Amino acid sequence: MLPFNKPYFVGTETRYIEEAVRSGKISGDGAYTRRCEAWFEQHLGSARALLTTSCTDALELAALLLNIQPGDEVLLPSFTFSSTANAFALRGANLVFVDCAPDSPALDAAALAALVTPRTRAIVPVHYAGTACDMATVLAVAEQHSLAVVEDAAQAINSYYQGQPLGTLGALGAFSFHETKNVTAGGEGGLLAINDPLLVSRAEILREKGTNRAAFFRGEVDKYSWMDIGSSFLPADINAAFLWAQLEALEFIQAQRCAIWQRYHTALQPLAALGVELPILPSYATNNGHLYYLVCRSLPERTALITHLKARGIAAIFHYQPLHRSPYYAARHDGRALPRADRYADCLVRLPLYVELDETEQQRIVREVLAFYQQ
Ligand SMILES: *Cc1c(COP(=O)(O)O)cnc(C)c1O
Repeated sequence: MLPFNKPYFVGTETRYIEEAVRSGKISGDGAYTRRCEAWFEQHLGSARALLTTSCTDALELAALLLNIQPGDEVLLPSFTFSSTANAFALRGANLVFVDCAPDSPALDAAALAALVTPRTRAIVPVHYAGTACDMATVLAVAEQHSLAVVEDAAQAINSYYQGQPLGTLGALGAFSFHETKNVTAGGEGGLLAINDPLLVSRAEILREKGTNRAAFFRGEVDKYSWMDIGSSFLPADINAAFLWAQLEALEFIQAQRCAIWQRYHTALQPLAALGVELPILPSYATNNGHLYYLVCRSLPERTALITHLKARGIAAIFHYQPLHRSPYYAARHDGRALPRADRYADCLVRLPLYVELDETEQQRIVREVLAFYQQ
């Protein structure tokens, strides 16, 4: 069976982990953590970049930092992972789900303004497939109503909006290094990019169980104390060592993934004429080769395509079920229909995409997809 995803190992991961182990400092904020954070600060230009144990944790840290309170409203897409919503639900926020854009699974930025109320506190755009949302509109609505913007950039490493790295346009940006993402911290990991300098010192405290331990180890204070609420969001340095190996190979990883993405995109163009939707890259966005999807014309068609591919040893899979209809939130949702989110939930299918997917294997996948539509 050709898998849907296969984590790529650069080869230096275990050596760096061994070094971390030998250093005797394997808990959080060790040498590899600092190295990874400096890398992100340089590449993103953020005021501070903090490694976390997951993107889920980075989002939870963001919600804490923004002091989201019970009854606050947060605007976010329905077509996303539960973590985007959970971070704010945990603080008691009311989630106001936004439909997808007319021509992509990204959130429909044009719908935001009408959903803002006096209780709205934040907008959480998700850069689905690593492709930028319409950030000009998101930022304009946020500015007009003094809302915070937290980018869920879980899938968006090395991707840009008009030349600016995703995850750096809002006050905060959350990245994932789960094994299914372009680079991994050894299975689980994340990062919070803090772009608003005013949030930096409190972010360090909240991430470290509410203590000023980070400032203490820099010699800025002579003892460390419980300063604020917080939790344990920092990963072990062993995970950072793994991540460092992957960051060193980022250019290679990205070149491979983007080449695979482009081959799919070129070879599957004939399907567009049949009404199958292929990804559209807006002029303001770049592609980071995170995932390749097709949008079938119906749910039965998608089910048949997945079955067809599975019977031929190819794992293709669908993606999110809309959160506004989820068992947890359906009864709390304000009742608005979000038909585009429903359609992407029913009709979108993702094809295998990983660094070691070789061209012959990929050609077979393409052949089988085209054969399905020719039968
Ligand atoms: C993967 C993902 C997350 C969660 O990331 P973890 O690191 O697994 O917590 C959140 N949001 C989106 C959009 C994702 O793709």
